[in-house]
Amino acid sequence: MENLVQDIREKYLQALGTIAGAARRAGRNPESVRLVVVTKTQPLEVVRAAIEAGVKILGENYPEEGVMKIQSLREFSAVEWHMIGHVQSRKAQMLPGNFNLLHSLDSLKLAKRLDRFCGEAGTTLPVLLEFNVGGEESKSGWLAGDESRWPSLLEEVGAALALPNLRVCGLMTMPPLGLTAEDSRPFFQRLRGLQEYLSAQFPRANFSELSMGTSGDFETAVEEGATMVRIGTAIVGARHYKTEA
Ligand SMILES: *Cc1c(COP(=O)(O)O)cnc(C)c1O
Repeated sequence: MENLVQDIREKYLQALGTIAGAARRAGRNPESVRLVVVTKTQPLEVVRAAIEAGVKILGENYPEEGVMKIQSLREFSAVEWHMIGHVQSRKAQMLPGNFNLLHSLDSLKLAKRLDRFCGEAGTTLPVLLEFNVGGEESKSGWLAGDESRWPSLLEEVGAALALPNLRVCGLMTMPPLGLTAEDSRPFFQRLRGLQEYLSAQFPRANFSELSMGTSGDFETAVEEGATMVRIGTAIVGARHYKTEA
């Protein structure tokens, strides 16, 4: 167990160092980037070890799994829990009161349900809007690969901004899988371009957070303006998919 903590700590500190280097190269403050350690499919012992290793923000992809871990690790009250995976509307109720931030708000339907459940629970939920800047139809997120179609996003983005119990604070993306870090760069640039576009269209809104970059490309993402990176395997190792899942 102690070995596991040490191993995670080493990789966590290494990732923080890489982030700091990339931020400085881009003329940015290293503290403007937050590291979300992705523990989806990892057993509770690994999540606990990550917390003991100094991890401050944990990212989970599946509501049930995340809530189980949150409830089991309540003693670590300083840790933040972020939902980063696609959330089915029927699971929306599991988020308010459990997660500190939803990175992957990907439809107005989900936004409305979340807003309603937050209202019923007397809470608000900070969210990022997920955009699919790669143009693959199979991916979640609002389709935003084609800049000429950005104006068609405004109606739904405006509607999400108007929901009283959600607090939009930025954008998130997941580039197409299997690319090199350098091949991912244009997608990170496109998300930042979209951030500028939306900020100009909605001057009173806050789109300051950019969640982008995973194990294979977070350094590039930070160079391109990421304020949150989501790193799993490079810190906690390979995922543990259960055979029955
Ligand atoms: C799994 C996952 C990650 C982490 O990916 P790694 O390659 O393990 O770093 C980041 N973001 C999302 C949305 C994920 O689903």
